[in-house]
Amino acid sequence: MSTFTSPLAEALAPGLLERFVRYARVDTQSSRESEQRPSTPGQLELAQLLAEELRTIGLEVRVAETGFVYGSLPATVSGADVIGLSAHLDVSPDAPGAGVEPLVHRGYDGGVIALPRGGTVLDPARMPALRECVGHDVVTSSGDTLLGADDKAGVAEIVTALAHLSAHPELPRPELRVAFGPDEEIGDGATRFDIEGFGARCAYTLDGSTLGELQDETFSAVEVTLTITGVDVHPGMAQGILVNAAKLAGRVLAALPADGLSPETTAGREGFVHPTAVRATARRAELEFIVRDFDDVKLDEHVALLRRVAERVVATEDGAELVVEVREQYRNMRAHLDAVPEVTAMAEEAIRREGIEPIRTQIRGGTDGSIMSARGLPTPNLFTGGHEYHSVREWASVQEMAAASAVVVHLAAVWAERVGR
Ligand SMILES: [Zn+2]
Repeated sequence: MSTFTSPLAEALAPGLLERFVRYARVDTQSSRESEQRPSTPGQLELAQLLAEELRTIGLEVRVAETGFVYGSLPATVSGADVIGLSAHLDVSPDAPGAGVEPLVHRGYDGGVIALPRGGTVLDPARMPALRECVGHDVVTSSGDTLLGADDKAGVAEIVTALAHLSAHPELPRPELRVAFGPDEEIGDGATRFDIEGFGARCAYTLDGSTLGELQDETFSAVEVTLTITGVDVHPGMAQGILVNAAKLAGRVLAALPADGLSPETTAGREGFVHPTAVRATARRAELEFIVRDFDDVKLDEHVALLRRVAERVVATEDGAELVVEVREQYRNMRAHLDAVPEVTAMAEEAIRREGIEPIRTQIRGGTDGSIMSARGLPTPNLFTGGHEYHSVREWASVQEMAAASAVVVHLAAVWAERVGR
Protein backbone atom coordinates (compact mmCIF):
# COMPACT_ATOMS: atom_id res chain seq x y z
CA MET A 1 0.00 0.00 0.00
CA SER A 2 1.27 3.46 -0.87
CA THR A 3 2.18 5.75 1.97
CA PHE A 4 1.18 8.75 -0.17
CA THR A 5 -2.17 10.52 0.13
CA SER A 6 -2.77 10.26 -3.66
CA PRO A 7 -1.15 9.22 -6.94
CA LEU A 8 -0.65 12.93 -7.66
CA ALA A 9 1.31 13.37 -4.42
CA GLU A 10 3.39 10.29 -5.26
CA ALA A 11 4.13 11.67 -8.73
CA LEU A 12 5.18 15.05 -7.31
CA ALA A 13 7.43 13.59 -4.59
CA PRO A 14 10.73 12.95 -6.46
CA GLY A 15 10.96 16.47 -7.95
CA LEU A 16 9.83 17.96 -4.67
CA LEU A 17 12.47 16.15 -2.63
CA GLU A 18 15.22 17.06 -5.10
CA ARG A 19 14.23 20.75 -4.86
CA PHE A 20 13.86 20.71 -1.09
CA VAL A 21 17.32 19.25 -0.51
CA ARG A 22 18.89 21.70 -2.96
CA TYR A 23 17.25 24.74 -1.30
CA ALA A 24 18.01 23.46 2.21
CA ARG A 25 21.75 23.47 1.42
CA VAL A 26 21.78 27.22 0.71
CA ASP A 27 22.55 29.12 3.92
CA THR A 28 19.67 31.60 4.18
CA GLN A 29 19.71 32.17 7.92
CA SER A 30 18.43 35.68 8.68
CA SER A 31 20.11 37.89 11.29
CA ARG A 32 18.51 40.14 13.90
CA GLU A 33 21.78 42.09 14.25
CA SER A 34 22.19 42.96 10.57
CA GLU A 35 21.23 46.42 9.32
CA GLN A 36 21.12 45.19 5.71
CA ARG A 37 17.92 44.10 3.94
CA PRO A 38 17.77 41.24 3.15
CA SER A 39 19.62 40.75 6.42
CA THR A 40 22.01 38.15 4.94
CA PRO A 41 23.38 37.57 1.39
CA GLY A 42 22.42 33.87 1.25
CA GLN A 43 18.77 34.85 0.99
CA LEU A 44 19.48 36.78 -2.23
CA GLU A 45 21.41 33.79 -3.55
CA LEU A 46 18.35 31.56 -3.06
CA ALA A 47 16.12 34.30 -4.52
CA GLN A 48 18.21 34.35 -7.73
CA LEU A 49 18.28 30.56 -7.93
CA LEU A 50 14.48 30.43 -7.59
CA ALA A 51 14.00 33.21 -10.14
CA GLU A 52 15.97 31.17 -12.71
CA GLU A 53 14.05 28.02 -11.89
CA LEU A 54 10.64 29.73 -12.11
CA ARG A 55 11.61 31.23 -15.50
CA THR A 56 12.55 27.76 -16.75
CA ILE A 57 9.17 26.46 -15.57
CA GLY A 58 7.46 29.17 -17.61
CA LEU A 59 6.68 31.98 -15.20
CA GLU A 60 7.29 35.65 -15.73
CA VAL A 61 9.65 36.62 -12.90
CA ARG A 62 11.17 39.67 -11.25
CA VAL A 63 13.52 39.93 -8.28
CA ALA A 64 12.91 43.15 -6.33
CA GLU A 65 15.62 45.11 -4.53
CA THR A 66 13.97 44.04 -1.29
CA GLY A 67 15.02 40.45 -2.05
CA PHE A 68 11.50 39.33 -2.94
CA VAL A 69 11.06 37.01 -5.93
CA TYR A 70 7.73 37.64 -7.67
CA GLY A 71 6.45 35.33 -10.39
CA SER A 72 3.31 34.88 -12.42
CA LEU A 73 1.89 31.82 -14.19
CA PRO A 74 -0.89 32.65 -16.68
CA ALA A 75 -4.41 31.27 -16.28
CA THR A 76 -5.87 28.44 -18.35
CA VAL A 77 -9.45 29.62 -17.74
CA SER A 78 -10.70 33.17 -18.14
CA GLY A 79 -12.51 35.25 -15.58
CA ALA A 80 -11.00 33.67 -12.46
CA ASP A 81 -9.56 35.68 -9.57
CA VAL A 82 -5.78 36.05 -9.38
CA ILE A 83 -4.55 33.86 -6.51
CA GLY A 84 -1.27 34.26 -4.61
CA LEU A 85 1.09 31.71 -3.06
CA SER A 86 3.90 32.62 -0.69
CA ALA A 87 6.68 31.16 1.44
CA HIS A 88 9.76 32.64 3.09
CA LEU A 89 13.38 32.28 1.99
CA ASP A 90 15.08 32.62 5.35
CA VAL A 91 15.58 30.11 8.15
CA SER A 92 15.54 30.86 11.86
CA PRO A 93 18.55 32.46 13.59
CA ASP A 94 17.70 30.40 16.71
CA ALA A 95 19.71 27.28 15.72
CA PRO A 96 22.83 26.81 13.53
CA GLY A 97 21.83 27.29 9.88
CA ALA A 98 25.08 27.04 7.87
CA GLY A 99 26.30 23.82 6.25
CA VAL A 100 22.94 22.03 6.28
CA GLU A 101 23.37 18.41 5.06
CA PRO A 102 19.90 16.90 4.65
CA LEU A 103 19.61 13.16 5.27
CA VAL A 104 16.76 11.08 3.84
CA HIS A 105 15.64 8.14 5.98
CA ARG A 106 13.63 5.99 3.56
CA GLY A 107 10.72 3.98 4.90
CA TYR A 108 10.97 5.17 8.52
CA ASP A 109 10.60 2.12 10.81
CA GLY A 110 9.07 3.90 13.82
CA GLY A 111 12.19 3.72 15.99
CA VAL A 112 14.56 6.31 17.43
CA ILE A 113 16.49 8.18 14.71
CA ALA A 114 20.05 8.92 15.88
CA LEU A 115 21.69 11.59 13.74
CA PRO A 116 25.42 11.39 12.98
CA ARG A 117 26.42 14.74 14.51
CA GLY A 118 25.87 16.58 17.77
CA GLY A 119 24.39 13.55 19.55
CA THR A 120 20.99 14.64 18.22
CA VAL A 121 18.22 12.07 18.57
CA LEU A 122 14.66 12.06 17.22
CA ASP A 123 12.63 10.06 19.72
CA PRO A 124 9.08 9.13 18.65
CA ALA A 125 8.20 8.78 22.36
CA ARG A 126 8.60 12.54 22.62
CA MET A 127 7.43 13.44 19.09
CA PRO A 128 3.80 12.49 18.45
CA ALA A 129 3.97 13.79 14.87
CA LEU A 130 6.86 11.41 14.10
CA ARG A 131 4.78 8.45 15.29
CA GLU A 132 2.26 9.34 12.55
CA CYS A 133 4.97 8.95 9.88
CA VAL A 134 5.92 5.26 10.11
CA GLY A 135 6.68 4.07 6.57
CA HIS A 136 7.33 7.62 5.36
CA ASP A 137 10.56 8.98 3.95
CA VAL A 138 11.77 11.27 6.74
CA VAL A 139 14.23 14.08 6.03
CA THR A 140 16.45 15.39 8.84
CA SER A 141 19.58 17.48 9.18
CA SER A 142 22.79 15.69 10.10
CA GLY A 143 22.21 16.74 13.71
CA ASP A 144 24.25 19.91 14.25
CA THR A 145 22.12 22.35 12.22
CA LEU A 146 18.45 23.00 11.65
CA LEU A 147 16.98 21.46 8.49
CA GLY A 148 15.23 24.54 7.14
CA ALA A 149 11.90 22.85 6.35
CA ASP A 150 10.65 26.13 7.83
CA ASP A 151 10.17 27.32 5.21
CA LYS A 152 12.01 25.63 2.33
CA ALA A 153 9.42 22.84 2.46
CA GLY A 154 6.87 25.55 1.61
CA VAL A 155 9.08 26.97 -1.16
CA ALA A 156 9.71 23.54 -2.72
CA GLU A 157 6.01 22.58 -2.50
CA ILE A 158 4.93 25.74 -4.32
CA VAL A 159 7.61 25.48 -7.04
CA THR A 160 6.78 21.80 -7.58
CA ALA A 161 3.04 22.52 -7.86
CA LEU A 162 3.72 25.36 -10.33
CA ALA A 163 5.98 23.10 -12.42
CA HIS A 164 3.22 20.46 -12.52
CA LEU A 165 0.55 23.00 -13.48
CA SER A 166 2.76 24.56 -16.13
CA ALA A 167 3.43 21.13 -17.65
CA HIS A 168 -0.33 20.36 -17.64
CA PRO A 169 -2.10 23.26 -19.36
CA GLU A 170 -5.20 21.04 -19.64
CA LEU A 171 -5.72 21.47 -15.88
CA PRO A 172 -7.96 24.43 -15.01
CA ARG A 173 -6.15 27.19 -13.13
CA PRO A 174 -6.51 30.89 -12.44
CA GLU A 175 -3.55 33.22 -12.88
CA LEU A 176 -1.20 32.27 -10.07
CA ARG A 177 1.19 34.77 -8.54
CA VAL A 178 4.00 33.63 -6.32
CA ALA A 179 6.13 35.58 -3.86
CA PHE A 180 9.15 34.29 -1.96
CA GLY A 181 10.42 36.80 0.57
CA PRO A 182 13.31 37.26 3.01
CA ASP A 183 13.54 37.92 6.76
CA GLU A 184 10.26 36.44 7.98
CA GLU A 185 11.98 34.90 10.99
CA ILE A 186 13.16 38.30 12.22
CA GLY A 187 9.65 39.73 11.80
CA ASP A 188 10.62 41.97 8.94
CA GLY A 189 9.49 40.19 5.77
CA ALA A 190 5.91 41.06 4.97
CA THR A 191 6.34 44.77 5.69
CA ARG A 192 8.33 45.00 2.44
CA PHE A 193 5.95 42.80 0.45
CA ASP A 194 4.73 44.73 -2.63
CA ILE A 195 1.03 43.98 -2.23
CA GLU A 196 -0.08 46.49 -4.88
CA GLY A 197 2.31 45.09 -7.46
CA PHE A 198 1.46 41.51 -6.48
CA GLY A 199 -2.15 42.16 -7.46
CA ALA A 200 -3.71 38.97 -6.09
CA ARG A 201 -7.17 38.80 -4.58
CA CYS A 202 -5.92 36.64 -1.72
CA ALA A 203 -2.88 34.50 -0.98
CA TYR A 204 -1.85 31.38 0.88
CA THR A 205 1.37 31.00 2.81
CA LEU A 206 2.80 27.49 3.02
CA ASP A 207 4.48 27.88 6.40
CA GLY A 208 2.55 25.56 8.73
CA SER A 209 3.38 22.11 9.99
CA THR A 210 1.01 19.16 10.63
CA LEU A 211 -0.76 17.42 7.73
CA GLY A 212 -4.11 19.04 7.00
CA GLU A 213 -3.52 22.21 9.03
CA LEU A 214 -5.24 25.37 7.87
CA GLN A 215 -4.54 28.38 10.05
CA ASP A 216 -6.65 31.50 9.89
CA GLU A 217 -5.80 32.96 13.28
CA THR A 218 -2.60 34.30 14.81
CA PHE A 219 -1.72 36.11 17.99
CA SER A 220 -1.99 39.86 18.17
CA ALA A 221 1.41 41.01 19.30
CA VAL A 222 3.14 44.00 20.89
CA GLU A 223 6.56 44.58 22.40
CA VAL A 224 6.81 46.58 25.62
CA THR A 225 9.99 48.16 26.98
CA LEU A 226 10.09 49.40 30.57
CA THR A 227 12.95 51.75 31.34
CA ILE A 228 13.56 52.42 35.03
CA THR A 229 15.98 55.15 36.06
CA GLY A 230 17.28 55.01 39.62
CA VAL A 231 19.41 57.42 41.66
CA ASP A 232 23.06 56.36 41.52
CA VAL A 233 25.68 57.51 44.01
CA HIS A 234 28.89 56.01 45.38
CA PRO A 235 27.73 53.09 47.55
CA GLY A 236 29.99 54.34 50.39
CA MET A 237 27.85 57.41 50.85
CA ALA A 238 24.56 56.07 49.54
CA GLN A 239 22.52 55.90 52.72
CA GLY A 240 19.11 57.42 52.16
CA ILE A 241 20.02 58.52 48.63
CA LEU A 242 20.66 55.52 46.37
CA VAL A 243 17.71 54.12 44.47
CA ASN A 244 18.80 50.92 42.73
CA ALA A 245 17.11 50.48 39.33
CA ALA A 246 18.28 46.84 39.10
CA LYS A 247 16.48 46.00 42.35
CA LEU A 248 13.34 47.75 41.14
CA ALA A 249 13.50 45.69 37.93
CA GLY A 250 13.64 42.51 40.03
CA ARG A 251 10.62 43.65 42.03
CA VAL A 252 8.63 44.39 38.85
CA LEU A 253 9.29 40.84 37.57
CA ALA A 254 8.38 39.36 40.96
CA ALA A 255 5.13 41.34 41.07
CA LEU A 256 3.82 39.88 37.79
CA PRO A 257 1.14 37.16 38.11
CA ALA A 258 2.97 34.00 39.17
CA ASP A 259 0.79 31.24 37.76
CA GLY A 260 -1.01 32.63 34.71
CA LEU A 261 -0.12 34.81 31.76
CA SER A 262 3.20 33.09 31.01
CA PRO A 263 4.05 31.12 27.87
CA GLU A 264 5.14 28.22 30.11
CA THR A 265 1.74 28.04 31.84
CA THR A 266 -0.65 28.82 28.97
CA ALA A 267 -1.90 27.06 25.83
CA GLY A 268 -4.69 27.17 23.26
CA ARG A 269 -6.35 30.57 23.17
CA GLU A 270 -4.68 32.04 26.28
CA GLY A 271 -2.36 35.01 25.99
CA PHE A 272 0.75 35.96 27.95
CA VAL A 273 3.18 38.63 29.18
CA HIS A 274 6.72 37.34 28.65
CA PRO A 275 9.98 39.03 29.74
CA THR A 276 12.55 38.37 26.98
CA ALA A 277 15.50 40.48 28.14
CA VAL A 278 16.61 42.39 31.22
CA ARG A 279 19.62 44.72 31.25
CA ALA A 280 20.18 46.41 34.56
CA THR A 281 22.65 48.54 36.50
CA ALA A 282 22.00 50.48 39.70
CA ARG A 283 21.41 53.59 37.60
CA ARG A 284 19.25 52.21 34.81
CA ALA A 285 17.24 49.08 34.04
CA GLU A 286 15.65 48.10 30.76
CA LEU A 287 13.09 45.30 30.71
CA GLU A 288 11.80 43.98 27.40
CA PHE A 289 8.57 42.06 27.14
CA ILE A 290 6.53 40.48 24.40
CA VAL A 291 2.78 40.53 25.04
CA ARG A 292 0.44 38.21 23.13
CA ASP A 293 -3.26 37.39 22.87
CA PHE A 294 -5.77 36.32 20.21
CA ASP A 295 -8.18 38.97 21.47
CA ASP A 296 -7.17 42.62 20.94
CA VAL A 297 -9.11 43.81 24.01
CA LYS A 298 -7.35 41.27 26.22
CA LEU A 299 -4.02 42.24 24.66
CA ASP A 300 -4.64 45.83 25.78
CA GLU A 301 -5.55 44.55 29.27
CA HIS A 302 -2.26 42.63 29.52
CA VAL A 303 -0.31 45.77 28.54
CA ALA A 304 -2.30 47.81 31.08
CA LEU A 305 -1.55 45.24 33.79
CA LEU A 306 2.17 45.36 33.03
CA ARG A 307 2.10 49.16 33.13
CA ARG A 308 0.18 49.20 36.45
CA VAL A 309 2.56 46.73 38.11
CA ALA A 310 5.62 48.70 36.98
CA GLU A 311 4.13 52.04 38.04
CA ARG A 312 3.20 50.71 41.48
CA VAL A 313 6.68 49.31 42.13
CA VAL A 314 8.58 52.35 40.84
CA ALA A 315 6.28 54.77 42.79
CA THR A 316 7.53 53.27 46.08
CA GLU A 317 10.96 54.91 45.63
CA ASP A 318 11.43 58.68 45.56
CA GLY A 319 13.50 59.79 42.61
CA ALA A 320 12.96 56.65 40.54
CA GLU A 321 11.47 57.15 37.09
CA LEU A 322 9.64 54.89 34.69
CA VAL A 323 9.17 55.14 30.92
CA VAL A 324 6.86 52.65 29.19
CA GLU A 325 7.14 52.14 25.42
CA VAL A 326 4.67 49.96 23.52
CA ARG A 327 5.54 48.85 19.97
CA GLU A 328 2.98 47.23 17.69
CA GLN A 329 4.21 44.01 15.99
CA TYR A 330 1.26 42.31 14.24
CA ARG A 331 -2.45 41.68 14.67
CA ASN A 332 -4.62 38.57 14.61
CA MET A 333 -5.59 38.01 10.97
CA ARG A 334 -8.93 36.40 11.90
CA ALA A 335 -10.99 39.59 11.49
CA HIS A 336 -9.64 40.13 7.97
CA LEU A 337 -10.28 36.51 6.95
CA ASP A 338 -13.78 36.39 8.45
CA ALA A 339 -14.72 39.15 6.01
CA VAL A 340 -13.85 36.87 3.03
CA PRO A 341 -14.96 33.38 4.14
CA GLU A 342 -14.49 31.91 0.63
CA VAL A 343 -10.69 32.25 1.01
CA THR A 344 -10.47 29.65 3.78
CA ALA A 345 -13.40 27.66 2.32
CA MET A 346 -11.46 27.13 -0.93
CA ALA A 347 -8.43 25.94 1.03
CA GLU A 348 -10.59 23.47 2.99
CA GLU A 349 -12.01 22.16 -0.28
CA ALA A 350 -8.50 21.75 -1.74
CA ILE A 351 -7.31 19.84 1.35
CA ARG A 352 -10.38 17.54 1.18
CA ARG A 353 -9.66 16.80 -2.49
CA GLU A 354 -6.36 15.37 -1.33
CA GLY A 355 -8.35 13.03 0.94
CA ILE A 356 -7.33 14.86 4.12
CA GLU A 357 -9.67 16.29 6.74
CA PRO A 358 -8.73 19.95 7.27
CA ILE A 359 -7.65 20.90 10.78
CA ARG A 360 -8.47 24.52 11.63
CA THR A 361 -5.97 25.75 14.21
CA GLN A 362 -4.71 29.02 15.58
CA ILE A 363 -1.03 29.94 15.52
CA ARG A 364 0.49 30.84 18.89
CA GLY A 365 2.72 33.22 16.99
CA GLY A 366 2.55 35.19 13.79
CA THR A 367 3.16 34.53 10.12
CA ASP A 368 3.78 36.72 7.12
CA GLY A 369 0.04 36.29 6.64
CA SER A 370 -0.75 38.33 9.77
CA ILE A 371 0.88 41.40 8.27
CA MET A 372 -0.25 40.69 4.69
CA SER A 373 -3.87 40.26 5.82
CA ALA A 374 -3.73 43.52 7.78
CA ARG A 375 -2.30 45.23 4.68
CA GLY A 376 -5.26 44.13 2.56
CA LEU A 377 -4.19 40.75 1.16
CA PRO A 378 -6.16 38.04 3.03
CA THR A 379 -3.62 35.25 3.62
CA PRO A 380 -4.32 32.09 5.63
CA ASN A 381 -1.54 29.56 6.26
CA LEU A 382 -1.32 25.95 5.04
CA PHE A 383 0.60 22.95 6.36
CA THR A 384 3.99 21.95 4.90
CA GLY A 385 4.80 18.61 6.56
CA GLY A 386 7.80 20.06 8.45
CA HIS A 387 8.13 19.61 12.22
CA GLU A 388 10.21 20.67 15.29
CA TYR A 389 11.04 24.01 13.72
CA HIS A 390 13.92 26.21 14.86
CA SER A 391 15.88 23.28 16.30
CA VAL A 392 18.53 20.73 15.28
CA ARG A 393 15.78 18.09 15.54
CA GLU A 394 13.81 19.70 12.70
CA TRP A 395 12.47 17.06 10.28
CA ALA A 396 9.99 16.69 7.44
CA SER A 397 8.01 13.87 5.87
CA VAL A 398 8.31 13.56 2.08
CA GLN A 399 4.78 12.11 1.99
CA GLU A 400 3.33 15.07 3.91
CA MET A 401 5.29 17.58 1.84
CA ALA A 402 3.98 15.92 -1.33
CA ALA A 403 0.43 16.15 0.06
CA ALA A 404 0.93 19.90 0.60
CA SER A 405 2.18 20.32 -2.96
CA ALA A 406 -0.84 18.37 -4.27
CA VAL A 407 -3.14 20.64 -2.23
CA VAL A 408 -1.68 23.64 -4.09
CA VAL A 409 -2.53 21.94 -7.40
CA HIS A 410 -6.11 21.36 -6.15
CA LEU A 411 -6.32 24.93 -4.88
CA ALA A 412 -5.72 26.16 -8.42
CA ALA A 413 -8.54 23.93 -9.71
CA VAL A 414 -10.94 24.97 -6.96
CA TRP A 415 -10.49 28.67 -7.73
CA ALA A 416 -10.68 28.09 -11.50
CA GLU A 417 -13.94 26.12 -11.14
CA ARG A 418 -15.43 28.96 -9.13
CA VAL A 419 -15.83 31.04 -12.31
CA GLY A 420 -19.48 31.44 -13.20
CA ARG A 421 -20.66 29.81 -10.00
ZN1 LIG B 1 8.22 29.85 8.85
